[in-house]
Amino acid sequence: MSLIENNPYRHEFPVLGQLINGKKVVYLDSGATTLKPQEVINEITRYYQLETSNVHRGLYWLSENATTKFEKTRDKVAALINASDRKEIIFTKGTTDAVNLVAQSYVRSFLKKGDVILLSQLEHHSNIVPWQLAAEQIGATIKVIPINEAGEILLTEYKNLLALGDVKFVSVNHISNALGTINPIREMAQLAHAHGALIFVDGAQGIAHEKVNVQNLDCDFYAFSGHKMFGPTGVGVLYGKMDLLNKMPPYQGGGDMIDVVTFEKTTYNDLPHKFEAGTPAIAEVIALGSAVDFINRIGFENIHKIETELLEYATNKLLSIPGLRIYGTAKNKTSVISFGFDGIHPHDIATLIDKEGISIRTGHHCAQPLMKFLNVPATCRASLSIYNNKEDIDLLYKALIKVKSFFE
Ligand SMILES: *Cc1c(COP(=O)(O)O)cnc(C)c1O
Repeated sequence: MSLIENNPYRHEFPVLGQLINGKKVVYLDSGATTLKPQEVINEITRYYQLETSNVHRGLYWLSENATTKFEKTRDKVAALINASDRKEIIFTKGTTDAVNLVAQSYVRSFLKKGDVILLSQLEHHSNIVPWQLAAEQIGATIKVIPINEAGEILLTEYKNLLALGDVKFVSVNHISNALGTINPIREMAQLAHAHGALIFVDGAQGIAHEKVNVQNLDCDFYAFSGHKMFGPTGVGVLYGKMDLLNKMPPYQGGGDMIDVVTFEKTTYNDLPHKFEAGTPAIAEVIALGSAVDFINRIGFENIHKIETELLEYATNKLLSIPGLRIYGTAKNKTSVISFGFDGIHPHDIATLIDKEGISIRTGHHCAQPLMKFLNVPATCRASLSIYNNKEDIDLLYKALIKVKSFFE
């Protein structure tokens, strides 16, 4: 049975059940944020409607209930990525916040002038700028691992850069948001460690497409955002190995992260609270737990089945349009298709197909260095998820044919 002809999960996403301007919603922008299933929405509503209270404070039922649910999400996330201890799960505002945390705490404290931080040509601005800020503060240098035309990291070049000897830290994405490339994290982590460097993985895209096992990958840090894994905005996760997190200084100060405060000297709370200053995004963390339940219920086997089918169908369909070019043809890639037409500006494409009710992303995808490498100002990107079906792709195809004839 084709899962994309009769998608069994589609009905769980209320956004898709409506018409906008009289048109079916064709949502092809899951790389920017995924839609939310009903159970995640219900959990947010339940907290605000019936269960509001702060966490880690009150000794009354409402607060204990919120705290239990909040902490339960930590267990669920630890299990989802196979962390060895729940204290290795830090709640952040998202991937960007997690990168900044490690840049300002770890890198700023433990790297020094002359040390090198390696990034790849494929990175999202969130996995570039925070390291640049920290590097400027301590006098460290950023170097870039090159990629090939297909959008794959060149491992030989990576090894050469590591062999220079001054690399102390590597940060790469698990999956490229712009091209869909799945990077060989396990191998890259082994190589980094063999050269005495740590590796941070930007898992913003990885978490929803791949079964992540941080112990197997042996990465030192792994970060992701709730809103790209069927959960709410405003919450994300930093996983870090316990010994590293323990030796890192706090990133932000405030309530919850302290042990004893005096004006002379403050001592800090234990992990994970040391890195969670202030009232957290309680409803969002609790609902992130529902998003994890949702992913577990569907399972990565089914996620892969649907996404593989979608990617294959969409790639063939789009390539059948004369003049259309796909950027990113890595052997190992997920259901993201970046494309363009020679001679038509990507923004014109997006504006015209929006009139057909189709949501795709057009722009530099927060990856200007990558666009420079591809030698384009922008690309159009259709990023597909478990709720998309064959009809979505057929409608995209029809709309693109229309755009093309408009410019001929
Ligand atoms: C979305 C994204 C980020 C940033 O995530 P935020 O939720 O905006 O913090 C970083 N890296 C990649 C690869 C992304 O796709």
